[in-house]
Amino acid sequence: MLEKAIQSWYDKYGQEVKDLAKRLWELSETALEEYESCKLTAKFMEKHGFKVETFNCADSTKPHNTVVATWGSGHPVIGFIGEYDGLPGLGQEVKPYPSPKKGNGQGCGHNLMAPSCGSAAIALKYAMEKEGLQGTIKFFACPAEETVEGKMHMARDGVFDGLDCCMAWHPKYCNLEVRENIQNSLTNMKVEFFGKSAHAASVPFDGRSALDACELMNVGVNYLREHVDPTTRMHYSYISAGEKPNIVPKYAALHYFLRTKDLKYGYEVLERVKKIAQGAALMTETECKITVNVMASGCIQISEFNDFFYEAMKKVPPLTYTEEEMAFATEIFKNVNGREPREGEEVIPTGIKKPTGNHVNAPVSTDAGYLTRLTPTSRLHGWGWVYGTPGHSWGIVSACGHEIGFKAAVHAGMALAQCGFDIAKDPSVIKVWRKNLDEQLAKEGGNIKPIFPERKG
Ligand SMILES: [Zn+2]
Repeated sequence: MLEKAIQSWYDKYGQEVKDLAKRLWELSETALEEYESCKLTAKFMEKHGFKVETFNCADSTKPHNTVVATWGSGHPVIGFIGEYDGLPGLGQEVKPYPSPKKGNGQGCGHNLMAPSCGSAAIALKYAMEKEGLQGTIKFFACPAEETVEGKMHMARDGVFDGLDCCMAWHPKYCNLEVRENIQNSLTNMKVEFFGKSAHAASVPFDGRSALDACELMNVGVNYLREHVDPTTRMHYSYISAGEKPNIVPKYAALHYFLRTKDLKYGYEVLERVKKIAQGAALMTETECKITVNVMASGCIQISEFNDFFYEAMKKVPPLTYTEEEMAFATEIFKNVNGREPREGEEVIPTGIKKPTGNHVNAPVSTDAGYLTRLTPTSRLHGWGWVYGTPGHSWGIVSACGHEIGFKAAVHAGMALAQCGFDIAKDPSVIKVWRKNLDEQLAKEGGNIKPIFPERKG
């Protein structure tokens, strides 16, 4: 059963958690611009007795976008991380069908994360006070997950230092479970070519095309695909591709994402891609400049922590929806999947799933990768989305602005708070997790340094 104090905190303040989720949904501020979201979240934590610090993790001259809220003293130091960034152009009314509105939208449901994980920290504080348990609780509201950088900025500045363990939750169209995959590491880079402009009809022979260099580089990378580990993903877009067809472009630039199974292999692939860029420059007699914006690590899984978290999840009371809420969800389901739900099919998954212990590679990446290498970390996902809804789409924006998402945030918060409480009662469990982490890092040859984003201003 859920710890009584945690339950009674959520009974009393659950509505406040939902209200915050609704406000963050309305704001839907995008990556690094979560100024109002930051203020609201900080106020929520402060009101409930946390010492709160806010700052801009990426650019100190702009308003604050990051919250660090702390309570208690000494060990264990238990961390919770939440997010709040929305996605550009995904504005949508809370309707069970596509009903776009101007502006940004919570296409990944991050508006539920800061309220869920922040409230878990508060409910845990309340329970620890009641039981007279020792320890420190830290909640981090992290900006810019969508651009895979917020936590990298924070880690660069040592914001996560000193944690004994860390937890998180992300909504998803599945039962609540530990996110057990090993997400790819990611190199986010810019490749610029500098050539010489000329009239493209009368004197093309006097020009040296930077655009040609980009195209040759992409051809080269496309040939490289066959000769890298199959878990590798390489994608690019053009940042600049010249101005007009009648001018030989003197400048052109590419934006590259290289995703690899780990950071060690990431450095290897980066070197090979650099050679291709240099080859393209050589062929076109242009100059090339490569800037790595961020190089994010993949994740480490701690099986013992994941299993421990599952035990806490089991104590959470069932997540239920009213008939009216179910009707709304079913309408989304039909519009998203193009069919009626089948007999016994769950329209909104509300169950929990046991960890498998199988840590498979996933091609996607996260800015939390490095954090999982700093401290034992276990992250949940599940609940809050209608089954079959594609990520970053209207159906998620809609569900996350509705009770479907709000209730999920409250219930996931209970799981996080309960896990924190179980840790606080017996902090010796952390030793096993830390040992596991250290062993995995040693096997890789230490904690390979990622490339942190530069701090501007
Ligand atoms: Zn997300």
